[in-house]
Amino acid sequence: VTVPVTDGTALGRLREVLGEVSDLTRAAELLSWDQETYMPPGGVEDRAAQLSTLGRLAHERLTSAEVGGLLERAASEVDGLPADSDDASLVRVTRRDYDQAVRVPATLVAEMAGAAARARPVWQEAKARSDWSLFAPSMELTVDLSRRLAEALGYEERPYDALLSLEEPDVTTTRVEALFAEIRGAVVPLLRDIAASAGRVDASVLDRPLDEARQLSFALETIVALGYDLGRGRQDLSAHPFCTTFGPGDVRVTTRTGPTLGDSCLHSSIHEAGHAMYEQGIARSLDRTPLFNGASSGVHESQSRLWENLVGRGRPFLAWFHPRLAAAFPETLAGVDADGLWRALNVVRPSYIRVDADEVTYNFHVMLRFEIETALLEGRLAVADVPEAWAARVREYLGLEAPADREGPLQDIHWTFGLGHFVGYSLGNLISAQLMAAARVALADLDGDVAAGDFAPLLGWLRDQVHRHGRKLTPDALVERATGRPIEAGPWIAYVREKYAGLYGV
Ligand code: ZN
Repeated sequence: VTVPVTDGTALGRLREVLGEVSDLTRAAELLSWDQETYMPPGGVEDRAAQLSTLGRLAHERLTSAEVGGLLERAASEVDGLPADSDDASLVRVTRRDYDQAVRVPATLVAEMAGAAARARPVWQEAKARSDWSLFAPSMELTVDLSRRLAEALGYEERPYDALLSLEEPDVTTTRVEALFAEIRGAVVPLLRDIAASAGRVDASVLDRPLDEARQLSFALETIVALGYDLGRGRQDLSAHPFCTTFGPGDVRVTTRTGPTLGDSCLHSSIHEAGHAMYEQGIARSLDRTPLFNGASSGVHESQSRLWENLVGRGRPFLAWFHPRLAAAFPETLAGVDADGLWRALNVVRPSYIRVDADEVTYNFHVMLRFEIETALLEGRLAVADVPEAWAARVREYLGLEAPADREGPLQDIHWTFGLGHFVGYSLGNLISAQLMAAARVALADLDGDVAAGDFAPLLGWLRDQVHRHGRKLTPDALVERATGRPIEAGPWIAYVREKYAGLYGV
C-alpha cells in the first residue's frame, strides 16, 4: 500500500494525520462546550452519541498502524535535531501518547466511557440524598476500571504511578507523598496559629450582595485588562466554570455568577482566564499537533492559580482592583478600603468543600483524596469505608467534625470517571509559587507594575518561560528552565508563611 505523503517525508504525513486527530478532538470539544452552555436538556442523548463517535474516530486514527510506522520513520528523520526543536519534540511527545494509547484496549476505553456516563446520574442522586452507599457500587466499578487501566498502562512501583503518568509526566506516587508530607509539616502548625487569631480578619463584606449582571461584565473587563485576548476568545455562562480551546484563534472561558461578593464570579473568571491566557500563548507553529496543549494538568493549574491567587489575591493587585470595584459597586464596598478587601479575600476558614477552600487549606483537600485513592487502588481501603476514612482526615487536617456524605466524598464529580485527577491541583499551587518567585527576580518592579494595572511584563515573562513551549518540555524540565529547580514545595510554603503571618500576625 502506498501512503500519500505531502512533502515526501514521514514527518510531513505524520503532521497531516495528527492535524486530523486534532480536528476531530476539537470538534468534540466544541460539542461539549455547547452542551455545558446552550444545549437544551433534550439534546443529551444525541450529544452523547456524537461525542462517542468523534472520540472513537480520533482514538482509532491516533492508534492506527499507519501512525506507528510513520513514527518510526520520522524518528530517523529528526535524528540529530535539538531535543527542543518543534520536529524532534513532536515525534517524542507523539510517541509517548501513541505508546500509552495503544496499551489500553479499545474495549476498556469503551467500558470506561460507558461506566462514566452511567455513574453520573447515580452520583447526582446519591449526592442529593447525601448517601454514599447509593454511589458505592459505581465507585467499586471506578476503582476496578482504574486498576485495569493501571495494569494495561504498566508501572514500575505503584499502580497509581500509571494513572499519574497520563496527566503528570515526571511525577510518581512516592514523590507526591513526599511533597504532601512537607506541606503537612508546615501547614498544620500554621493553621493552628491562624485559628487562634481568627478574629483578626473581618470578612463580612463577602456576604454583601453583588449585582449579577454587572458582576459578569465587570469580570470580563478585568480579565481583558489582565491580557485575555477577546478577539480570540469569549465568555459564557455554565454551571461549572471551564476553559476550552478550538485553536490559537479561539480559546473560550465560561463562568458562573453568584448573589454575593463571596459567591461572585470575579476570582473564578480570573482563574479560567489564567488557563485561557496559557492556551492563547502557545506558539502557533505547534497548532494541530499534540504539542498544542499545556505541559501537564499541574502546569496548567499553575497558570490559573498564579493569576487567581498570587496576583489576584495579592496586595499590589488590590491597589489597582479595589478602586475599580468600588466605582462599579459603591454600595457593596461602602466602608471597605483596599486593605480591608485584601484581608477579606484571604480569610482562612477550614471548610468541607474543596472548591471553596482558601489557599492555606486547599492542599489538604487534595491530600485526603489522594490518600484515599491510593489506598483504594492498592487494596488497603474498602469502598464502604471511604466516608470513615474521609472523616478521619477532615478531623486531622482541617479540625472539623465528620461531614454529611454530600459535603464529604460525594462533593466532586471526578470519581464518576476515574482516579488520579486531583493531584494536578496541588502541583499547580506549588508550581505557581515557584514561577512567581522567579518572575519577581526577573522583573525589576513586578509589584509596582501590578499595582499600576500593567500586567504585560508578567504575562510576557510567562509567555516566554511557559506558554509558548506548549507540551514540548516535561513539567520538571519546564519548571527547572524557568526557576532553576524542579517542582518542589519550598517556595509555596515560604509564600503562605509570609503572606499569612502578615495577615494574621502569627
Ligand atoms: Zn483550573
